[in-house]
Amino acid sequence: AQVTRMAPSPTGFIHLGNLYSALADERIAHRHGGVFYLRIEDTDEKRKVDGAVELIIDTLRYFDIEFDEGAGFPDDAPQNIYGPYFQRQRVEIYHAYAKSLVEKGLAYPCFCTEEELESVRQKQEENKVLTGYYGEYAVCRNLSLEEIEKNLNEGKSYVLRLRSQGSPDKEITFVDSIKGEIKLPENIHDIVLLKRDGIPTYHFAHAIDDHLMRTTVVVRGGEWLASAPIHYELFHVLGFKMPEYAHTAHLMKFDEETGGKRKLSKRKDPELSLDYYRQDGYHPYCMKVYLMTLLNSNFEEWHEQFPDKDINEFPFSIEKMSQSGALFDKDKLHNICKNELSKLSEDELYDFLYNWASENAPEKKDMWFADKEKMLAILRLYMGIGMKRRRKDFMYAKQIFNMISYFFDGESTDEKDEFRLDMSEVKNILNDYMAAYNHDDDNSAWFNKLKEIADKHGYASDMKAYKASPESFKGNVSDIAEVVRIAVTGRANTPDLWSIVHIMGEEQMKQRIEKVIN
Ligand code: GLU
Repeated sequence: AQVTRMAPSPTGFIHLGNLYSALADERIAHRHGGVFYLRIEDTDEKRKVDGAVELIIDTLRYFDIEFDEGAGFPDDAPQNIYGPYFQRQRVEIYHAYAKSLVEKGLAYPCFCTEEELESVRQKQEENKVLTGYYGEYAVCRNLSLEEIEKNLNEGKSYVLRLRSQGSPDKEITFVDSIKGEIKLPENIHDIVLLKRDGIPTYHFAHAIDDHLMRTTVVVRGGEWLASAPIHYELFHVLGFKMPEYAHTAHLMKFDEETGGKRKLSKRKDPELSLDYYRQDGYHPYCMKVYLMTLLNSNFEEWHEQFPDKDINEFPFSIEKMSQSGALFDKDKLHNICKNELSKLSEDELYDFLYNWASENAPEKKDMWFADKEKMLAILRLYMGIGMKRRRKDFMYAKQIFNMISYFFDGESTDEKDEFRLDMSEVKNILNDYMAAYNHDDDNSAWFNKLKEIADKHGYASDMKAYKASPESFKGNVSDIAEVVRIAVTGRANTPDLWSIVHIMGEEQMKQRIEKVIN
């Protein structure tokens, strides 16, 4: 069994890429009864945002991903044996390891000021060598004990640096579970382990934590791959076994402006934020199915083959994770939503919409759900329950409510379709419809009346006749139905109109039509 973790910095922003890796972590751990825990990397005070931890837990929970251990559980929760899980509360632990490195000569205090570091950087740039604290540029590396003591007595501030053992002409080799065998130059930099305030850097803290918290697989963004040599060295000098690393590909998006691919960006792409999906009411299961198609190339085939199996039964594998940028494609997401929602029962869909409305549209919820039977009838109609084929119109809650809003308040339909016929003809047709209308007519009697109206106005009532010579008619009975449909629903495309009218009731239908006529 594997132990995986999510180790976010609590910045208050949680995005699609986080869900993508969290799902991978969760699958890797839970597929074989392992543990997925949450650790908060809050060493950077400036970026910290209140409530960020709750946001992470709550958001992932919404998308059906739960932690087994870590931040978010009470300190004395029985499973929280390797805590604390907030790095700020672990400073003493890092200091103990730092001390042991100093004792072994593997770390040393560096008293260089910002200005001194800047002048080192300039020299390196002038000489066109790598910038950083290493080799002859690592001036504090060779201070004598007396010099160190003197600086400390003078109260000079310092950072603690690693005394790197790396060599510029050697490479490290390790196997990344996604990218395969990786060869990178050894780390030669005397990187900072503890900052001036004694707070550790990411590099140092994460190595200690992943070791002490028994992490076996680290799934993290590809931007960390370049730091892998540092981590390789740290695990080595600390005497720890390195966990397995899996560096994920970036989520990319097709950019219409350039015609190429680019990274999803916080500034340009609202759909990077997970709030976006929650607010618009994407069903968590659809998101999961979609992300699984991005995560494992063979998932789609499996899901098609076993449409009724829970996706948690899919044999998830790290090796099948995408190596190059996974392409985020909203149309594809929408297709998946349509497919998955069409598999829900009317009760499941009802509950999903009810919960979404309670959270996101409380002021409308009561109106939408005042009559449960009515809502169920609408959902049944839209999903094509009882018909040969399920309809696939529904994508996400907000879109669904937009689609069916005419049953409740005709006014909120922001995407009203226009009549295609002249308004004078529309009114004549609607007048005839009202005159002939009888609420007790069944579907075929009702449709026969539409046919009569069609004949009267020069539209074919008989489709065969119409197909034989379309030029002899102004159109056919579907044009008449469309007039009524748009008048009643504001939409040119809806499920069966007779059924709609019978769910909505005679009175509401008449009001809508009268509004157009007058
Ligand atoms: N704290 C790091 C971040 O938020 C985590 C990287 C990792 O998973 O190791 O980017």
